[in-house]
This record gives sequence, C-alpha cells and structure tokens, in this order.
Amino acid sequence: MKTEFSKAQLADPDIAEANKILRKCVHCGFCTATCPTYVLLGDELDSPRGRIYLIKEMLEKDQKPTQEVVKHIDRCLSCLACMTTCPSGVNYMHLVDQARVKIEKEYTRPLPERLLRDVLAFVLPRPALFRASMIMARLARPLAALLPSTRTQASPNLLSRVKAMLTMAPTQLPPAGPAGGSVFAAIGPRRARVALLQGCAQQVLAPRINDAAIRLLTRHGVEVVLVRNEQCCGALTHHLGRDGDALARAKANISVWLGEAERGGLDAILVTASGCGTVIKDYGYMLREDAEFAAPAAKVSSLAKDISEYVSALELPISDKQSNLVVAYHSACSLQHGQKITQAPKELLSKNGFVVKDIPESHLCCGSAGTYNLLQPDIASRLRDRKVANIASIKPDVIAAGNIGCMVQIAGGTDVPVVHTIELLDWATGGPRPGLN
Ligand code: SF4
Ligand code: SF4
Repeated sequence: MKTEFSKAQLADPDIAEANKILRKCVHCGFCTATCPTYVLLGDELDSPRGRIYLIKEMLEKDQKPTQEVVKHIDRCLSCLACMTTCPSGVNYMHLVDQARVKIEKEYTRPLPERLLRDVLAFVLPRPALFRASMIMARLARPLAALLPSTRTQASPNLLSRVKAMLTMAPTQLPPAGPAGGSVFAAIGPRRARVALLQGCAQQVLAPRINDAAIRLLTRHGVEVVLVRNEQCCGALTHHLGRDGDALARAKANISVWLGEAERGGLDAILVTASGCGTVIKDYGYMLREDAEFAAPAAKVSSLAKDISEYVSALELPISDKQSNLVVAYHSACSLQHGQKITQAPKELLSKNGFVVKDIPESHLCCGSAGTYNLLQPDIASRLRDRKVANIASIKPDVIAAGNIGCMVQIAGGTDVPVVHTIELLDWATGGPRPGLN
C-alpha cells in the first residue's frame, strides 16, 4: 500500500512503524474472509482491510479520530485472525493498538461510555475490587431481565452493556487461591524453576486453573513461584488504548520478575491465560523505545511461555489413563493467532487419553476478547451463539480452552462443561477430576 507520510511524521517511531506495516498490505482482501466482524456484518469498514484504510487515513492526515472511525475500530475484536490469514505479514495487531491509543487520547466519547471504560480499566486489573464487583453483580443479577436485550440494540448503549455484565456474573465465587510470594517445591529432583502469572480476573473466577498447573508442574519436577507484588499484565488496559496504565504495569512486572530471576533463577514465566501471554510476549515491542526497559522487556518476553507450550516441552510420560472423553478443543484467538500455538494443546490432550475434536470454524472468535463482550454485547453474543452451535455439532463431553475469557464466554451459552486444558492434563497425570458435572 502506498503511503504518504512526511519526513517529520516519520521521525516519530510509532508512525515509522505504522508506515512499515501499511506498506506491506497489498489490498488483496484475503483477510476479510476470516474476520469475524466482516463475516457477521458484511461491511468492508468492519473488515481488516477496511480498518487498515481508516487507520492509514487517520495517521497520514494526522486527523482526530472521527465517530465513524471509532465505531469500526471499536468493533474490532483484536482476535488477530487477519494476521494468520494475511500472506504479506501485515502486523495488524501493532497497527490497531496504535489506533486505539490515538482514539483514547484524542477522541471524546459520550460521558456514559467514558465512565464505563474508566470503571472497567480501574476494577478489572485489581482482583480485590473485581471480587467485590462480582459479588455486587451477582446480587443485582435478577435486574438483568428488566434491561433491554442486546439483540434489539443496533449499536450498544449503556443499558445493554450493563445487562451483559450482570448476565455474566457468576452465581458463586470460589475461595481465593494462594497469595503472591508462595513457592511450591518440586516433587522429586528439581528440573526447573518457573514463575506462574497469577492473573487478575482468572484468580477471582477460577483459581482452580493455576491450582491444576501447580500440581502438574510440581509433580513433574518443576518448582513454581507466585511472584510477590506482581500486577495485572496490562492486557486489559492495553486493549482499551490506555497505554500509560498498561506500560506502567508491564514495567512493574518486569522489575519483580527479573528481581525473582536474580534471586532464585527463573527458567520461564508461565501463563495460563493466553490473552495475557500474548501481551507479555509483546512487552519487548511495547517498550522498544524505552531506554531503561527495552532490554529487560525483551528478556521477559523471551521467558514468557503459554502453559501448553511449556508442558509440551517437558515431554511428560504418556499417560496410561484412557478417559475416552470427547473433548471439543476451543483454540483461543490469542493462542492460535496471537501466539501461533495450535497443535501443542491438542497433542497433549490426545497423548493423555482424550478424544480431541476440532470445532468447525475454529478460526472464528467466540466473542470474548478481553472487555469486548462487555463493550460490544450484540456482536459478542452472536459470535458466542455461533461458536456454541459449532461446538454442539461435534457432540463433545467437555470443552477445553486455554483462556479464562473464552471459558466464561462459551460457558454462558452451553450446558457442556468448560474447563482449562491444563485441568484435563492434571487429571490425566494424577490430579483430581475437574468439575465435569
Ligand atoms: S483482529 Fe479480528 S476482528 Fe479485528 S480486523 Fe482482524 S480479524 Fe477482524
Ligand atoms: S490479507 Fe494482508 S495484504 Fe491482504 S488486504 Fe488483508 S492485511 Fe492487506
């Protein structure tokens, strides 16, 4: 794609990066076929190619984001299916991230929306506040029935978003998991030492996921540390375009993780929520211009591993436990498109006695996408229903996924139990049976 940035514009490293990305796009439109919003809405401006044009115009002419541009960028899930499909290697992720930051800085959203985004950005990364808000949402849940259905909203408003939040609130919350600073010793000779990201929403909604990871890892000779003073990875605010907050969290985490590495050694930083893993693996890029943090951030990104990627490399002994349960493996977008991890989770499950089935249209997002299902409830619920129908077509006993956001989103539309891949692997290798009803 031809671009016309001035020399002065190109002196800005972000614009120089955008220019490189835009020039790789050859307008072929292959990406449109796998873009969930284009598939649903059929509008070129809700396709990757359309959004790339909008971003190019906005950046090249140094225009303030218009309402129209914001609408189409807001509808993007950041699922990154377009990056998997693109034959030219266009890094849409870094382009849309830049557009979101510009929108956040230069566009004034209507007051209710600003407030909602402020609340999400403040509450979600703080587990104690998130827990309290989930308890309140649970109490207010009956009110959801009185609010207008998302399906009648052409574009989301505050009430439809509040309805989505109340509907998603869990009926009960599990007790909190182990605190930061906990160390879980390897059983038998120690072969490695890793940090395990505690996560923010996940540690409130499903601490059982990291419990399963800790059991499996320690059982196979890996010492696990929950690093003290670790924060939310920053993914939530990063996707809201609030890079000041996201980068501050990234820097705080880099400091505590590398401090831990210096004290006790760390072979990896493991992540059981692939949405978080994708962002931590991108810290090196996000902080590339920061004189103090560029190298440490790159180091942390190189240490970051998805749990399935790490367990795969451990080469576990093949389990003799044959459960023969049919598992519908839901490939989270952040895992398959963001981290390009597609086979490892399925191979691990197969080797451990599960009958793994691919879900039709597995490249399409389930609609979770961080805070997307709260901010765009109509599109999100249409994507969820499509995903759930595809899952039902293969008649599974259980659904496995590697990301808490997808697990909550899919569970909202089906009675088939939804678990994390690591819970099944833990069970197959000696841990307790996960909740399969
Ligand atoms: S990230 Fe997903 S929703 Fe956004 S343009 Fe790409 S394919 Fe479409
Ligand atoms: S597939 Fe890649 S090169 Fe083709 S239009 Fe989409 S982003 Fe551009």
